Amino acid sequence: MTVTRTVLDRGWIRLEDMMGGDGAVVRGARICYQSEGTSPDADARLIRRLVSSRPAHNTVFEHAVFRFGVKCPLFVGRQWMRHRIGSYNERSLRYCLADREYYVPAGHPEQQEAYVRHMEASFDLYEQLVAAGWKREQARGVLGLAVYTEFIWTVNAWSLMNWLEKRLDRGAQWEHRQYAKAALDIFCEVMPITATAFKEAVLAR
Ligand SMILES: Cc1cc2nc3c(=O)[nH]c(=O)nc-3n(C[C@H](O)[C@H](O)[C@H](O)COP(=O)(O)OP(=O)(O)OC[C@H]3O[C@@H](n4cnc5c(N)ncnc54)[C@H](O)[C@@H]3O)c2cc1C
Repeated sequence: MTVTRTVLDRGWIRLEDMMGGDGAVVRGARICYQSEGTSPDADARLIRRLVSSRPAHNTVFEHAVFRFGVKCPLFVGRQWMRHRIGSYNERSLRYCLADREYYVPAGHPEQQEAYVRHMEASFDLYEQLVAAGWKREQARGVLGLAVYTEFIWTVNAWSLMNWLEKRLDRGAQWEHRQYAKAALDIFCEVMPITATAFKEAVLAR
């Protein structure tokens, strides 16, 4: 299974694999109550109740698990990895050469040329240092935070919703919000009942 959304000028988020889904949440809840679903509607009502219940019966959502691949600017990745409940592995600039790929924000045409010139000059220097025998892990120090990185993120639906709630908020950085919007779109596609209940009960608050 691969569902991909492009984000920013060169980034993307893709769902590489998943386990569970809405059915796993229902299973997690019904074992607690030793109940059986009488219809798909009853299961959907149960999920809606669970999403909006306070205090939250949150662990039932942990039975649905996603593995996302992400390509994003380093500064977005740095914010993302503050979300501790999940597993990450990231492309290493100790072991790999950095690709000449960086994010260019739109909306500032007067300074854009200077920005690009600066980024290109930093890559020129990086490549000169590596060619001169510098270790990649030291040469990377001259690169900027707009450089694209890639990582994989394995996260359960509960933690995904926590990230979505925080990073879709208008107070979150616009670039990070674009990834959260794309991930919400994928979430709606693959786990529609939970995602719809989450939008109605949490995001619309
Ligand atoms: C708009 C915005 C601005 C931010 N600005 C800054 C900033 O300037 N500087 C900065 O350092 N960070 C900043 N952050 C990061 C923020 O403080 C959180 O680290 C980040 O959003 C991860 O949230 P989280 O802890 O809920 O997620 P996770 O780490 O995934 O944790 C999920 C949940 O698990 C529980 N949990 C996890 N670990 C612990 C623990 N050790 N103790 C108790 N409960 C735990 C909590 O209930 C937590 O909500 C910002 C975040 C946002 C959204």
